[in-house]
Amino acid sequence: MNKEKNMYIRHVMVQKMRSLRESADNTIAKLKNAEGKFADPIDQAAAETSKAVEINCRDKEWHLLLDIKETILRIDRELYGICDHCGQPISPKRLMAEPMSKLCVICQEEIEARHNKFKHKRRYAGGISYNHA
Ligand SMILES: [Zn+2]
Repeated sequence: MNKEKNMYIRHVMVQKMRSLRESADNTIAKLKNAEGKFADPIDQAAAETSKAVEINCRDKEWHLLLDIKETILRIDRELYGICDHCGQPISPKRLMAEPMSKLCVICQEEIEARHNKFKHKRRYAGGISYNHA
């Protein structure tokens, strides 16, 4: 990818990072305000569940924020668009579709296939054997 496109992606990443941080600040404020105890145990349980869901969402956004920061760092260090696994350039088409990609399509598919094979093995490793003959 050329420098202009990389700078555009960097700009998009910085905007996304700001938006995530604002959202996180709002959640923290919301959670602090909602810390009151409820007299009704059902209301208390509902509030706790809602809080847990909110924290789970924040956790996912935290990971997204880390990926965004890493993408910005890769652009700044001129490593953006280079596959972490094989060192070959990642296709611009892939980067436009998945700007935070760290792997080329071939390596990504290879790793996913290996992962699926491992999952398949784990699923059947402890299973019941019907081979009694
Ligand atoms: Zn690769």
